[in-house]
Amino acid sequence: MKIKSAEFVVSNSEVAKCPKNDLPEYAFIGRSNVGKSSLINMLTDRKSLAKTSGRPGKTQLINHFIINSGWYLVDLPGYGYARVSKSSKRKFQAFITDYFEKRQQLVSAFVLVDIRHKPQPIDLEFMQYMGESGIPFAIIFTKADKLKPKAIERQVSDYCDVLLKSWEEVPQHFVTSSSKSIGKDDVLEFIEATNQEIESLRSK
Ligand code: GDP
Repeated sequence: MKIKSAEFVVSNSEVAKCPKNDLPEYAFIGRSNVGKSSLINMLTDRKSLAKTSGRPGKTQLINHFIINSGWYLVDLPGYGYARVSKSSKRKFQAFITDYFEKRQQLVSAFVLVDIRHKPQPIDLEFMQYMGESGIPFAIIFTKADKLKPKAIERQVSDYCDVLLKSWEEVPQHFVTSSSKSIGKDDVLEFIEATNQEIESLRSK
């Protein structure tokens, strides 16, 4: 997919205020510093698209960007846990879970993980939450330029082994590097193919 246009639309903390039309939407999420802004800028060929909404105070918001006038890219805040709840279960920030549970237009989330690290509990718990809530997601490994090809393979395979302990299948995953522009076409092709599928289902 060629990116012809990419524009910031709106920032919100409430899912009810997100854009009302029915364009397909893809949300990017991960721990802070995972490389989310860099990835969004790489995918959209813009130097600081993600930073535009990343002004101080905007980082804890749901940020909508419209791409090629046809789909939304959503930049979600880096996740952390909300305060321990009464049941002492750790929960993700309420407006994030609200977004995932209520946003009808969401087609798929991309959960970003740093390829150098072992699976982190918070990422695994988040994927678990997504699975239990029936929300489709793919994994994007970031910062692949930091490892040699063999190590990339090993990290991805180790990560998948851990996932297979609780999942029947490994979710779709992509290996990327924003500094070396790796994986860009794969992610964009996935989005394009998915958009085409949605389009053909809608026209039936
Ligand atoms: P965010 O907090 O998830 O939005 O992460 P940023 O995109 O701001 O990146 C966090 C840090 O990781 C910055 O210092 C980036 O320069 C660095 N970084 C992001 N992507 C890459 C990458 O693909 N390769 C390398 N080597 N560093 C990266």
